[in-house]
Amino acid sequence: MATSTPPVSDRHRLNLGPIATPDRLLLGPGPSNAHPTVLQALSRTPIGHLDPLYVALMSEVQELLRYVWQTDNRLTLPMSGTGSAAMEATLANMVEPGDTVLVAVKGYFGLRLQDMAGRYRADVRTIEKPWGEAFSLEEIEAGLKEHRPKILAMVHAETSTGVRQPMEGIGDLCRQYDCLLLLDTVTSLGAVPLFLDDWKVDLAYSCSQKGLSCPPGLGPFTMGPRAEEKLAARSGKVPNWYLDVSLLNQYWGSDRVYHHTAPVNMNFGMREALRLIAEEGLDNVWERHRRNAERLWSGLEALGLQCHVPAELRLPTLTTVRIPEGVDGKAFTLHLLNKHGIEVGGGLGALAGKVWRIGLMGYNSREENVDLLLNLLEQELPAFRSAAPAVAAAAA
Ligand SMILES: *Cc1c(COP(=O)(O)O)cnc(C)c1O
Repeated sequence: MATSTPPVSDRHRLNLGPIATPDRLLLGPGPSNAHPTVLQALSRTPIGHLDPLYVALMSEVQELLRYVWQTDNRLTLPMSGTGSAAMEATLANMVEPGDTVLVAVKGYFGLRLQDMAGRYRADVRTIEKPWGEAFSLEEIEAGLKEHRPKILAMVHAETSTGVRQPMEGIGDLCRQYDCLLLLDTVTSLGAVPLFLDDWKVDLAYSCSQKGLSCPPGLGPFTMGPRAEEKLAARSGKVPNWYLDVSLLNQYWGSDRVYHHTAPVNMNFGMREALRLIAEEGLDNVWERHRRNAERLWSGLEALGLQCHVPAELRLPTLTTVRIPEGVDGKAFTLHLLNKHGIEVGGGLGALAGKVWRIGLMGYNSREENVDLLLNLLEQELPAFRSAAPAVAAAAA
């Protein structure tokens, strides 16, 4: 019997032109725009992931991550994956079934930590604050005292609310109560003052696409000596092969043993992004973010718009501004996107429909971007204020 191959089906065949996405200005909760020289670095010809030149680049990336985090942690590397992969790596490596993990929840990303810790079979406890507030040292201590956790997990820069959690003293409390401190620095790394070692943070993670001016795809991860000790004392294997830090460290450490094929171009971009920060100087980068955020806040105030978070707890990277009464918030952000190519975020969870989220992160933290957005708010927002005042007046 003659064998014949079936005809190729064209059922899923698309006839497309080359990609032609517009240049947007991303002033939302992330991703943020990448720096032009980062985009150039990304488009270089890949080299082998064990090429001596690449191996040297890996060490440069690790050393510069230590700089932006202000840590001496040996185990510092970018996870292949977005911030959530690095987030998951902290829990996958640290949690043994039954370990008590206390999550300080004050927004959406605290809830994600809670969900993830449960998936690794932690005994998850929480302390909570309303969306828009931060924890006091007393509240943290009360939580540690009541729950006696092995790990306290919290978010430094809560992107869902725009709150910066003050960190002074929390690390000392964790040592006092013999627990590890795990910190989400996704929306603070490279933009908001962070002193990992000084704050006695044992585990932290971040992403490439917010403060670092790189596209999404890498999740910086770091682990200090106390966390390494807990990892070494595990009775069972880390229940996630891809994110197992001991295996990854055989590649990122001195052995350079193959684990997975590193996304080499993403790491080209990461090197360039970190190089730019080192060139500008970390303190200058932080100061630039603060200055531009303050310019935004005073501009919003001048337009009669209200920030959701008290000034002393505001993040320079992410501002939540209340949608004025009678304005369809979604319609206005769609207008900004479609008419002006500018992305601004909406609210998440408890703040859905109540706030806009304005991001000024990394390369986008520039005066011209602040002024552009403020001008648009001044000129074009009034048209979106519906007849609400008249309606309200009629109702009264
Ligand atoms: C964006 C974000 C994450 C998740 O990072 P992805 O890169 O989206 O996976 C985690 N935590 C916080 C606080 C974030 O803002």
